[in-house]
Amino acid sequence: MENNRYCLSHRFVAALLFTLLGFQSLFAQGMKKAPEVKDGDGPYSQLIIRGVTLIDGTGAPPMGPVDIVVKGNRIAAIRNVGYPGVPINPNSRPKLEPGGKEVNAEGMYLMPGFIDMHGHIGGGQAPIAEYVFKLWMAHGITAIRDPSAGNGLDWVLDEKQKSAAGLITAPRLFAYTAFGQGAKDGVDTPEKAVEWVRENAKRGADGIKFFNAAPEVLDAAIRENKRLGLRSTSHHNQLSVARWNVLDSARAGMTSMEHWYGLPEALFTNKTIQDYPVNYNYSDESHRFEEAGKLWKQAAPPYSEHWNKVMNELLSLGYVLDPTFNIYEASRDLMRARRAEWHENYTLPQLWEFFQPNRRAHGSYWFNWGTEQEVEWRNNYHLWMTFINEYKNRGGKVTLGTDSGYIFQTYGFSYVREMELMREAGFSPLEVIRSATLYGAQALGVEKDLGSVEVGKLADFVIVDQNPLANFQVLYGTGAIKLTEDNKVTRVGGVKYTVKDGIVYDAKKLLADVKRIVDEEKKKMNNYVIRQPGIVD
Ligand SMILES: [Zn+2]
Repeated sequence: MENNRYCLSHRFVAALLFTLLGFQSLFAQGMKKAPEVKDGDGPYSQLIIRGVTLIDGTGAPPMGPVDIVVKGNRIAAIRNVGYPGVPINPNSRPKLEPGGKEVNAEGMYLMPGFIDMHGHIGGGQAPIAEYVFKLWMAHGITAIRDPSAGNGLDWVLDEKQKSAAGLITAPRLFAYTAFGQGAKDGVDTPEKAVEWVRENAKRGADGIKFFNAAPEVLDAAIRENKRLGLRSTSHHNQLSVARWNVLDSARAGMTSMEHWYGLPEALFTNKTIQDYPVNYNYSDESHRFEEAGKLWKQAAPPYSEHWNKVMNELLSLGYVLDPTFNIYEASRDLMRARRAEWHENYTLPQLWEFFQPNRRAHGSYWFNWGTEQEVEWRNNYHLWMTFINEYKNRGGKVTLGTDSGYIFQTYGFSYVREMELMREAGFSPLEVIRSATLYGAQALGVEKDLGSVEVGKLADFVIVDQNPLANFQVLYGTGAIKLTEDNKVTRVGGVKYTVKDGIVYDAKKLLADVKRIVDEEKKKMNNYVIRQPGIVD
């Protein structure tokens, strides 16, 4: 979602920027940093993960059994040790060295660590970093891009450094500062933009997240950022898309985009501005989200001349799409999103409160949401997904991002849901995994070290005891439903181990920690019980 995580309504850029700056420091103070506690084991001088089936993230099919040897935090060898269904000949296996550690992963599947390209680290609605980090790690997410560095760049860089040093349990963090963050008088000229961009790079940010600004300011900032070799992305908000859409961003050198706004606008053929009702008010979020649900049908139809032309230009510019399908899912099926089975145990009470219908909160537009809105959104999804899937088919890079912490989406769980929605869009299971891993690493510019399981790369893995390609739901912390041969209902899956930098984490233990945090918060809030909107008893 937008950068406004403080329940502000955003009216004008200046106002937004001002409030943002005003609240940034306050916010960071309220956000509890992750404790310096060692939850994982390792790294080891030698770690051998034995007998696993490998899905390496490159698009290669599964292969196994293999033994994967890790030395310290890097992959030293990947050895094919046999054939499925027959015993492994021990003589063919890498030998355990003194002080080394073995993990028996026979029957399990190993993938590269997942990358969430749109991961806000909590906020007022989830003010405990440990809660957010552990939900991510428990779902195999070993790297996230923080689009806006909403807790303040220094806050994020401090946690980033601690994560890199293995001092806290957290994914690798990539900070894309909100454009203009920290500027005292705003960034309203090209000169100021260039100055801000240079300062941002100097402070150690990985990139910039844009939201809204005047075209000449955006143009100067994006070009300078590119010249400095940093990456950038944008939520092209409706206040700016009439004069600056995704094509303008891509042409100026922006490397990726969030969500989908600005894309239908680039695809208009019979209008130049979204068809807003005359009583539309952007600060009324029910207007904003209801009308957004009618936007794709205003764009050029799939495979039409203009649709192809825009797609092909974005492809030629190497623009990365990060659709975050899951964050709009409540728009097409509110009951599904709010009744998700993990809310009771794993959604923080503050977060649950934040999700509730509220004219003053962002993404809580359930004033009068019903069948008509949901049907519009289902049709909207269909057109949107068609574009994204075809973009992938033509060689474009599509990544997985969630934007969790808004609209009934809980960290980690929403990532698995994003995988399911990519599948629904037409991606094959292997294409989904590649987007979740290698393409994310490429979009971040770190594919030399991350994104696939290859010798020499960093040891970031997800290990699960079920085949994720057959059913992504086995990756949910709550597992997938399975009926046994003798008619007993069971749950299977849930990530078993998350490995980051050669450190092995028991993913189920991390999830148990999350539940403990949630229980403690509920206790503090008068034994809070999650209830559905408007239900009183
Ligand atoms: Zn966001």
